[in-house]
Amino acid sequence: MTRPDVVVVGSGPNGLAAAVTLARANLRVLVLEAEPTVGGGARTLDLGLADGVVHDVCSAVHPMAWASPFFRELDLPARGVELLVPDVSYAQPLPGGRAGIAYRDLDRTVEALGVDGPAWRSLVGGDPSTVVRLALGDKRSVPAVSPRRAAHFGLAVLEQGTRAWDRRFLDDVAPALLTGVAAHAISPMPSFAAAGTALLLGTLAHAEGGWPIPRGGSGALTAALVEDLEAHGGTIRTDHRVRGHADLPVAHCYVFDTTPRTLVEVLGDRLPARTRAALEAFEYGDAAAKVDFVLDGPVPWTVPEVGRAGTVHVGGTRAEMARAEATVASGRHAELPMTLVSDPAVVDERRVVHGRRPLWTYAHVPSGSDVDVTEAVTRHIERFAPGFRDVVVTSRCTPAARLSEHNQNYVDGDISAGRASIRQLFARPTWRFDPYFSGRDGVYLCSASTPPGPGVHGLGGWYAAKRVLREFGITTTPSLAP
Ligand SMILES: Cc1cc2nc3c(=O)[nH]c(=O)nc-3n(C[C@H](O)[C@H](O)[C@H](O)COP(=O)(O)OP(=O)(O)OC[C@H]3O[C@@H](n4cnc5c(N)ncnc54)[C@H](O)[C@@H]3O)c2cc1C
Repeated sequence: MTRPDVVVVGSGPNGLAAAVTLARANLRVLVLEAEPTVGGGARTLDLGLADGVVHDVCSAVHPMAWASPFFRELDLPARGVELLVPDVSYAQPLPGGRAGIAYRDLDRTVEALGVDGPAWRSLVGGDPSTVVRLALGDKRSVPAVSPRRAAHFGLAVLEQGTRAWDRRFLDDVAPALLTGVAAHAISPMPSFAAAGTALLLGTLAHAEGGWPIPRGGSGALTAALVEDLEAHGGTIRTDHRVRGHADLPVAHCYVFDTTPRTLVEVLGDRLPARTRAALEAFEYGDAAAKVDFVLDGPVPWTVPEVGRAGTVHVGGTRAEMARAEATVASGRHAELPMTLVSDPAVVDERRVVHGRRPLWTYAHVPSGSDVDVTEAVTRHIERFAPGFRDVVVTSRCTPAARLSEHNQNYVDGDISAGRASIRQLFARPTWRFDPYFSGRDGVYLCSASTPPGPGVHGLGGWYAAKRVLREFGITTTPSLAP
């Protein structure tokens, strides 16, 4: 490639979203990726655990990809990406052989929740597009939603983010079901960050797309992005870690799909002192330790309906989950850590190879933990699925401290690339009005450390790319249609 117009550092969903958008505007785009494989948090790899069985090394379940205006415009189905929708978006097994079930069908969920059905409908039965506009915007523009709906969402966050969170519930199933979703924020609970997460993901669970799992794994999303980028003249160079300024080819602009920490390492004194200090003050949160299992049968959940869920939140009651997250926040390991589980074969039978299937799990642990959580995760699943050990063929744990070995963005195992706190919802990565501009001319950030934050939605990349286009005098965002 002749001298690129834009160099994108990192090929996660945000980096590729930026690259695709810029390449479609006829700019020469070069993506530099540190790892041998592209995709960052959206990679599906053969870990060598069982013949032909592939695993999602990071993300596995994609309500945000389905809801994302970027991926909507890209039109994943037209590109052959099948987003398979489980009838049960997620489930919450509970002590005493009970479970909360979030069907994609809202009415069915409300009915099953009995006395708390109306409360459920009021909290997560609203219009998904309103919630998406509120939660997945650039946190700077005013979202185009009705003030009444915005107020309803805001009040629900206030309620579920404080000790008033049990106020409207009469039973313990619905609150546990909602708290399992809140726990995706990896933060103490109740908190506003966790409540916002619960209301966004909880609402999407009942939207048309539910909590989908791409056929073949998350790598299908990356493959679609790479294909489009290359079709528009973009180039990707893997095994190219950018450690310092010297690793960057000359270009007009640079877009970093990295953490602020990496940006500071690379640019150092080239950043204005105040900006550098603000980026260095960006905080990283608690962590996840991954356990990839290979099973020779489905998980034997006590409540069979749990086995129909694409995602299972293993944490018990609301109080138990809050206690486990508080333990992690205090820097200790929970005896039964909050654990997220997904069996993709629930919707994608092709993931079963020679009778063996992958089971994707991760548990919440303190930042930087080097603990192998295989036994803790196994014990926790056994609590709600006795006999689980008997279907495990093999497993592999990646402790939190080692997550950054395959993705530098996961600082000390923080899979959100920055603490999910109410401050860092907006000061992401700093309070700057233009959150994508690094403070140095021609240099931008687009990763999950920028708005709207973590998740496979490509929106940080898309929003940053729109900003970069202005550097080239391009005022119309290119269409992403196939
Ligand atoms: C275990 C786990 C489970 C998750 N589950 C889900 C889920 O189910 N659904 C969901 O929506 N989200 C999930 N996430 C979060 C999601 O994967 C991330 O929020 C998302 O991938 C962020 O995208 P990104 O483009 O900002 O960064 P990333 O996807 O993290 O990509 C960053 C890329 O930049 C590269 N890079 C970093 N530094 C350099 C450098 N110096 N030089 C060159 N390249 C560099 C990295 O190698 C990487 O490829 C999960 C994450 C993890 C780790």
